[in-house]
Parts: sequence; C-alpha cells; structure tokens
Amino acid sequence: MMPATTTESIIATESAYTSGAYPKRPIALVRGVDATVWDADGREYIDCVGGQGAANLGHAHPAVVAAICEQAGRLISCPEIFYNDVRAAYLQELAAALPYTARIFLCNSGAEAIEGALKIARLHTGRTGIVAAVRAFHGRTMGALSATFEPRYREPFQPLVPGFRHVPYNKIEALDAAVDEQTAAVLLEPVQGEGGVHPAAPGYLAAAERICCERGALLIIDEVQTGFGRTGALFAIEHHGIAPALLCLAKSIAGGLAMGAIAMHESLGSLPLASHGTTFGGSPIACAAARAALHALREQDLPRQAAEKGAYLLGRLNDLPLPRVRAVRGQGLLIGLELKERVQPFLVTLMERGVLALPAGPNVLRLLPPLVITYAQLDAVVAAIAEVLA
Ligand SMILES: *Cc1c(COP(=O)(O)O)cnc(C)c1O
Repeated sequence: MMPATTTESIIATESAYTSGAYPKRPIALVRGVDATVWDADGREYIDCVGGQGAANLGHAHPAVVAAICEQAGRLISCPEIFYNDVRAAYLQELAAALPYTARIFLCNSGAEAIEGALKIARLHTGRTGIVAAVRAFHGRTMGALSATFEPRYREPFQPLVPGFRHVPYNKIEALDAAVDEQTAAVLLEPVQGEGGVHPAAPGYLAAAERICCERGALLIIDEVQTGFGRTGALFAIEHHGIAPALLCLAKSIAGGLAMGAIAMHESLGSLPLASHGTTFGGSPIACAAARAALHALREQDLPRQAAEKGAYLLGRLNDLPLPRVRAVRGQGLLIGLELKERVQPFLVTLMERGVLALPAGPNVLRLLPPLVITYAQLDAVVAAIAEVLA
C-alpha cells in the first residue's frame, strides 16, 4: 500500500491508529534539507525544532545518508556478543572526542542512557540514593522518570523508583546538604532544556563534581540535549572543565538515527560481565551513522558555528522590544524566551508564519534549530518572533 499523500489523509490515517500520547500539530512533514522542512502540501518551514535535538547536523546530511546506505547494504544488525568493524572504529573515535579517557556503553535512546547510568551508579557505589534537580528532564522510563521533576509526568505512575530527591538547580548549598553516604549519584543537565532553558551557572557543575568526589558519589551529566555541538562546544562539559564519572549522550549522536551512549570515566573500570545489555546497542547501522555525524560535526566546525550563531541570535532577540517576554537566555543554539504568558498560542502563529519552534514548560519558547541553519534563516526567525510577540 502506498502511503497517503495529502495532509488531510495523512492526519486522518495517523489519528486512527496512533497511541494518542503526543500533542500533535496539524501538519505532516515529508521532507527536509539542512534547517528547512516541507509538509505534504509543499509548504516550507524553518525548522527550530531540529528533531527535538536529534537533528544538529540538519536534515538529509549527505555524509550521514551515504553512510547509512552503504552500511545498510553490508550489515545492519550485529549484537555486541560479536565484535564489529564499524563499532570498533566508532568507539575509538567517540572516546577520542571526549575530553577525558572513558569506556563506552552503546544503547538506543536518551532515557536508556540515563537508566544505564543509574544502574552503573548503584553497581559501583553499592548505594541507592540519587540527587537530581528541580525542573530536571531525563526521560520517560521508570528510572529516568524518577529523576525527572515535572509532577504531571510523574504522578500518574507512582510508585516510582525509591531513593530519588530533587534540589533547586544552580544552588551549591542545597546540593551540598543533599549528598550523603547513601547517595549513589548526582544527576544534572549542563543546560536544563525541557525545564525552561536554564544554563548551569559558572562553577556549579565543578562544585557538584567536588561534592560527589568528597562523599564517594558519582556525578552523572545528562548531555542528551546539549551534546554534539549544541551549546557551542562538542560537549557542554567543556565549558565547565569537568570530567564526570558518567556522561549520557543520545539525540544528535547518530545524525538523527536512534542511538544513545554512556561514557564511563576510566576510574570506573569495566562493567561486570552480563551486568547490562540491549539488543540493538552498538548496531553497525547506528555506528556508521554516528561515525559520519561525528566527522561532519568536526569537518564543518559545527560547535563553533553554534557558538557564533547562538550569540548572534541571542543578541538579535535581546534587541527586540518584546513586552511579552520576561527573559531571553541560552547557550549556543539552545535558546529560550520566557514569556509572561502561555507559549502554546504563539507556537501556532509562528508555524503559520513558517517557523517551527518548541515549548520548554508552559511559558518558555525554545529554539533548537539544526546547527547548519543560515544567518538569513535566523533573521527570518527573529522577524517572525518580533511579529508574533509584538
Ligand atoms: C530528550 C532528553 C532525554 C530523553 O531522551 P529520549 O531519547 O527521548 O529518551 C533525556 N535527557 C534530556 C536532557 C533530554 O533532553
């Protein structure tokens, strides 16, 4: 059966069979190039959703496309009970890209990377306490959800995993008071993304690292959204000079393909045999895409582009007279405009003007474009925001 081709028929078919879990927007995207996407009616949009963070390289990146096609014709699946040429190469290249020496566990999503890191922290410390932050988002599986703060996401699923507590973000004293001899790990994002785009204050993550080190807890840094160039460095931890025990990666790791990773600081050694695993982890097709994505990020200097374009966009937005906006903040190309009112209606009017954007909580407009977005597109985004929020 050929897929439906008009917006109306696509929406009708998908609505009849989809889970209902997602609040959907009434367009059907069918194609993308760089930071531009098209719907089934041929309408063009500037994409500031960026695959919710999975499309740092832009859509249809030729090197990623070529790597996936080539690998698909050679070997798609190969569980980690066997060695594999592409996986070996990728592990070596990702390890070399990290700012410290680490071993790597490969998985398939952000939530899965967080779950794995929580298990590793228990294994390594023999403790069960986890300290996370108010406004944190770490994913929707039971462990990751236990670390996530938003009550609307958590409450329907009680009882969650025991031992989790949340402390105010960017408050060193609160963290200091919460970490004790029961604490297996402190789990933090370098920029709280879903929670409203709040960057870590200078010194906060370094203080968290010191507190963990003093008390025998592990620091887990969630770079699922901030990794792979988003904040203006390949990894956001580079801004903070830290080397966390566990680093969680996903979203843009493989040029848009589903993949996640946990980097384990060399001081942790290897995992005990059979202590963790996943069927699709380290699949050759994901590793091939991830190799191409990492090469392209480097070759196109995308972390630097994110830093420069982010500074430009933040400057332009700060110069706008926007009485509805309380604050504009961000790091690199992860930018939030905190409104004095609910953001949802403005997402709709922006879409009508050809700009796709995200919320981050009820009143923050989040911009998460592919790092290849052009300056002309950034100017068009600023113009649309100025008009919509006037
Ligand atoms: C998206 C996100 C996750 C969850 O990743 P999934 O791949 O959706 O499971 C975890 N942490 C952060 C910071 C995220 O932005």
